[in-house]
Amino acid sequence: MSGAGSADLDAALAPRLAERHAQARYRQRRTADRAGAHVHVDGRDVVNFCSNDYLGLAHDPRLGEALAASARRFGTGGGASHLVSGHLTPHAMLEQRLACWTGRERALLFSSGYQANTGTIAALTGRGDHVVHDRLNHASLLDGTRLAGARLHRFAHRDPAHAGQLLAGLDPARARLVVSDGVFSMDGDCADVTALAGQCRARGGWLMIDDAHGLGVLGARGAGTLEAQGVSADEVPVLVGTLGKALGTQGAFVAGSHTLIEALIQFSRPYVYTTSLSPALAGATLTALDIVRDEPERRTHLQTLIGAFRHAAERLPGIRLMPSDTPIQPLLVGRGSEAEVLALARRLADEGLWCTAIRPPTVPEGSARLRITLSAAHTHADLDRLLSALEYHCCSQELTDD
Ligand SMILES: *Cc1c(COP(=O)(O)O)cnc(C)c1O
Repeated sequence: MSGAGSADLDAALAPRLAERHAQARYRQRRTADRAGAHVHVDGRDVVNFCSNDYLGLAHDPRLGEALAASARRFGTGGGASHLVSGHLTPHAMLEQRLACWTGRERALLFSSGYQANTGTIAALTGRGDHVVHDRLNHASLLDGTRLAGARLHRFAHRDPAHAGQLLAGLDPARARLVVSDGVFSMDGDCADVTALAGQCRARGGWLMIDDAHGLGVLGARGAGTLEAQGVSADEVPVLVGTLGKALGTQGAFVAGSHTLIEALIQFSRPYVYTTSLSPALAGATLTALDIVRDEPERRTHLQTLIGAFRHAAERLPGIRLMPSDTPIQPLLVGRGSEAEVLALARRLADEGLWCTAIRPPTVPEGSARLRITLSAAHTHADLDRLLSALEYHCCSQELTDD
C-alpha cells in the first residue's frame, strides 16, 4: 500500500521520532481494560495512580445506566452542531445545572476542555489584543492564544503582582484577558484567584479561570477553586470547567454572564464548527452532578488520602513533594532527569503501581516528575502499597537508567 508519497512522509518523520527516543521523551500508550483505580494492564492487576478520575465516577454503574438511558431516549450522537440541529434537551438541562452549580447566569457546553479553552480565548481576543498567562498554564490555553493571533504575555507562576505589572504596561484600548488554571494540572497547586481578581479590577483586565482539576473536588459543594477560596462569580467573568476529570464523563463548559455565552455562540469557531457533545454523555453528566451533590463523603475520603499521603511521603528521603493540597501530588526525584523518573516509574509498574512520568515539553526542562493522582476510589491499603514501594525504591538505591 505504501506508495512513494507514504515512503517520503515516513522518511521525513523518522528522524523526529529518533530524536524523541534519544531524549528519553518518546511517549507510549498502554491499554487498560477499563477506567478506574483498579485496572488490568498488560496481563496484570495494577492500582492506577495517574488518572484524573478524582471522585471515582468514571466507572460508576449509575453513570453507565444514565448514559444508556439517555442514549435510548435522546440518541447516541447529536447528529449536527449545536447551531444546526444538534442542541438537544439533555444539553439544555445540563447547561442549566452547570450554571446553577457555579452560580452564573448561563453555561455553554463544549465537546472538550481543549475546545472550550481555545474557543473562548479566540472569541474574546484577536490580533493586537493581549492575553496574560501564568507560566504554567495548560497547553490548551496557550494554543487558544495562538489561534486568536493575540499577543502572549507570561507572569511568574502564582505571582498576581507580576500579572498586575504586565497588565499595567498594556494598551487599555485593547482587550486584555488574564488567564490561569485554578488548580495547576502538573503541579497541583492553586492560583490565588482573589489576588488575581484584585489585579484585574485595579488595572482593567478580564479574568478567566480554567478549573478543570478543581471542580468536583474543592469546596464544600465541590464547586471548585472559587468556592474553596470564597471568590464571587462577578470577580471571575469567565469560568471553564471540564467533565472528563472529577465528573467521570467527557466534555467541558464555559460559565458566565448571558452576554458572554451569547458572544461565544456567535464567535467561537471551536464551538460552532463541531458536532454537539453526545446527548448520552450529557445525560450521564447530570447523574454525575447528583452524585457530587449527594455524596460529599467522596471528597472527604479523598482529602483524608491526600493528608495521609503527604504526611508519609514528606518523611521519605530521596524524593521531594511539591506544595499541593489537591489530589495531584507530583514527586520530584533525584535531579529531575527524564531517565531517573522513567526508571522509578518502571520499578513501580513492576509492582503493579501505575504512575506516569511527566516529561518536558509538558513540564519545564529539568523538572521531569512522577505525577501521582489520588482518587476517592483508592483505599488506604492502596496508598500503603504505594508508600512502601516509594520508600524501597527511592531510599535504598540509586535510580539509574537501567
Ligand atoms: C485536562 C485539561 C484541559 C483539557 O480538557 P479536556 O476535556 O481533556 O480536553 C484543559 N485545562 C486543564 C487545566 C486541563 O487539565
